Amino acid sequence: MYSYGEFMRVKDRRRDYIKDIAVQRIEKLIKLAEEVYSRDQELANRYAELAYRISLRARVKIPKKYKYRICRKCRAFLVPGRNMSVRLKSRREPHLVIKCLVCGYTKRIPYKKGLKVSKSCNNSSGSS
Ligand SMILES: [Zn+2]
Repeated sequence: MYSYGEFMRVKDRRRDYIKDIAVQRIEKLIKLAEEVYSRDQELANRYAELAYRISLRARVKIPKKYKYRICRKCRAFLVPGRNMSVRLKSRREPHLVIKCLVCGYTKRIPYKKGLKVSKSCNNSSGSS
């Protein structure tokens, strides 16, 4: 028999495990979306939506490097230079402006020094 404390710990570990798997699946789906985007944008969008749903269900956040690859509004899979525009505004408060060219949704992201949101995350499968 578990004591209550032990039980909670086991439960926590199980939750972490589920979240781990969810994050892995999200990453996999986004990579897949990236792969199929040039051939089949519909499919890429479907993968993106699936990734988004997993993040909701498992209550995990989309990994930072992929966070802006799914439109918050229309859930389209966004590819910089294709259906997503990334502008760096350096006047006053430096910030990035990300625009979904599918639905026109724009998002401003404060740009901090050291934060790398490179424009050139096109095809280089940089899994460091
Ligand atoms: Zn959109």
